[in-house]
Amino acid sequence: MRRHIALWVLSTLALLVPTAVLAEMQPQKVGPNTWYVQGLAALGSPANQNFISNAGFVVAPQGVVVVDALGSPALARRLVQKIAEITPKPITHVVLTHYHADHIYGLQVFKELGAQVIAQQDAREYLNSDTAAQRLVASRTELAPWVDENTRLVPADRWLTDSTTLELSGMRFVVERVGPSHTPEDLAIHVPGERVLFAGDLMFSGRLPFVGQADSGQWIASLDRLLRFDAQVVVPGHGAASIEPRKDMVVMRDYLNYLRITMGQAARDLVPFEEAYTSTDWSSFEPMPMFRFANRMNAYNTYLLMEKESLRGR
Ligand SMILES: [Zn+2]
Repeated sequence: MRRHIALWVLSTLALLVPTAVLAEMQPQKVGPNTWYVQGLAALGSPANQNFISNAGFVVAPQGVVVVDALGSPALARRLVQKIAEITPKPITHVVLTHYHADHIYGLQVFKELGAQVIAQQDAREYLNSDTAAQRLVASRTELAPWVDENTRLVPADRWLTDSTTLELSGMRFVVERVGPSHTPEDLAIHVPGERVLFAGDLMFSGRLPFVGQADSGQWIASLDRLLRFDAQVVVPGHGAASIEPRKDMVVMRDYLNYLRITMGQAARDLVPFEEAYTSTDWSSFEPMPMFRFANRMNAYNTYLLMEKESLRGR
């Protein structure tokens, strides 16, 4: 009997303690000097160290340029280790696609190594907001011990105002301002010499996005701008890299457009959301991953957005 209790205690403890088996972080090569690591398709948790987003890096002539900083300092340290296995060059810059927690909680690690952090200046409002501070407080509990009292929000060293071309460590980076779309501060980073585009959370490969409170009209316009880059590979903020970027971007654009057209019509005709949702033909998007989790919420958020837009007379 006592042995049974001991076993029960042990197995209960095993459920409570973060599993020691960490998700694999294997850099995948997407250009002559460019790699990315792919986060899990999961919610952030102690078991995965908040490894739910991607990060990329380019080994430029004089140093390494990282794109996005991952979701915890521990993950950033693992990425630094992986980079060191590929090149002895120092990490000189981190360019951020946007300031969402899962893309920035690793920043302090790169900062301590002397890297310069570059982002779009509209992130400052969020960074200085109660929302960002409260989110960090909550994450210290939800993601303990990987996010703790030593984890801090790191502002950029260099705030960009608009689209620009940067020469970083001897390589050219075209930094395109594509916000406000997913966030006010969205940046996409194109590396022409590598024909790789880092698109942040503006595009995913083969799955539907979470639209959230995004400005989908602006988002569609941004996708059109990204389509003009001659990228062979697009690394999104989540999920696998796209080797058919044109096709994937067109799917994203068409989906956002379809939401706006169908929900916009319903909002203007004052058709209640439930009725509009049920009578809309979703068959072209139904087979796509994330449809069941994301589509109703995306449609609802778009319905609210279109109500607002039609009130503004857009
Ligand atoms: Zn994200």
